[in-house]
Amino acid sequence: MSNPAPFIDTGSPPPWASQPARSRGRRHPEPAAPTRDDFQRDRDRIVHSTAFRRLVYKTQVFLNHEGDLFRTRLTHSLEVAQLARSIARPLGLNEDLVEAIALAHDLGHTPFGHAGQDALNDCMAPHGGFEHNLQSLRVVDSLEHRYPQFDGLNLCFETREGILKHCSRANAQRLEAQEPGGVAHRFLHGRQPSLEAQLCNLADQIAYNAHDIDDGVRSGLLRIEDLAEVELVERYRCEAAAEHPGLAGRRLLYETIRRMLSAQVYDVIDATRAALLEHAPADAQAVRAAPPLVLFSTAMHAQSTALKRFLFSKLYRHPQVTQTTRQAQQAVRDLFGTYVDDAAAMPESYAMRADRPRAVADYIAGMTDRFAMREHERLTGARWVA
Ligand code: MG
Repeated sequence: MSNPAPFIDTGSPPPWASQPARSRGRRHPEPAAPTRDDFQRDRDRIVHSTAFRRLVYKTQVFLNHEGDLFRTRLTHSLEVAQLARSIARPLGLNEDLVEAIALAHDLGHTPFGHAGQDALNDCMAPHGGFEHNLQSLRVVDSLEHRYPQFDGLNLCFETREGILKHCSRANAQRLEAQEPGGVAHRFLHGRQPSLEAQLCNLADQIAYNAHDIDDGVRSGLLRIEDLAEVELVERYRCEAAAEHPGLAGRRLLYETIRRMLSAQVYDVIDATRAALLEHAPADAQAVRAAPPLVLFSTAMHAQSTALKRFLFSKLYRHPQVTQTTRQAQQAVRDLFGTYVDDAAAMPESYAMRADRPRAVADYIAGMTDRFAMREHERLTGARWVA
């Protein structure tokens, strides 16, 4: 593993970094805070939100009740923030913005991980569908109710832009109609988001590739030997074992993952630096018209993709995972059908809404795994078999 060139702090951010003083601002103008800049303030608003606290009881891959040591959406988000900050600092990118985006990126996730999201998307197919990235934006734009002057958290454009990581064309058109030239504009015009947003996207992948190996081995569904076919893992397992003869079990796994993470972080720093030097965007706005600039080297991209493919077939598609997946999807479908037929079964703020299917989707998406299970049991009498 080669170390990246050392960071030389010149005291001022590079021209392509996002800067709070040049933010496109908030949807509802607010006076500046006396001691914090706008990106810090966004990060703090996210940490204090209800949706953020719920992440602790939401599944990443393994259902929340399957074990206390598996990642949840909360610990995943913290790991993404850590990785993204580690990369942001040597590149001179705005760390507060990176942290805000990373901590908020999964706020819109349903209970039961991707299983829940797929089921809710099926239920919502006749009503505009359900996308978790768009839902994260809905959470920070309207579903949090904690400020006297506005719904949502009233975050800066740059934070919202980063939260809306992906968006279907149909939804982008809908958003663009409500907010011309806003956060959905780039999906219709092939533009990039800020470097900070690009970084969070990559840090998300680095984080889950690494922690899903850890959780997969912890669950017993993967063995470290199975990972020998994955170059990115095997290389650092061999390196760790050669340097520490006799190292085995969890410590060998941790050392392997640690080296793998460092290698990817250094790779992104070097590849991104090279791309920034080559394209030399004049400012943060010019970044949006450039090709993606926060990236892996070609070799690391291939290795990361191979790992992702391995996890997909050997872990996410493992019969034991798909068994709980089916159960979770049925629970979401049952909840959806029940609330659509009987709005009064929901809290008043959702029951009163005229857009019933969307209100139901918002209510279900906000649930933690355990609340959804209890609610499912209460409404249908079905017992959860796990
Ligand atoms: Mg994520």
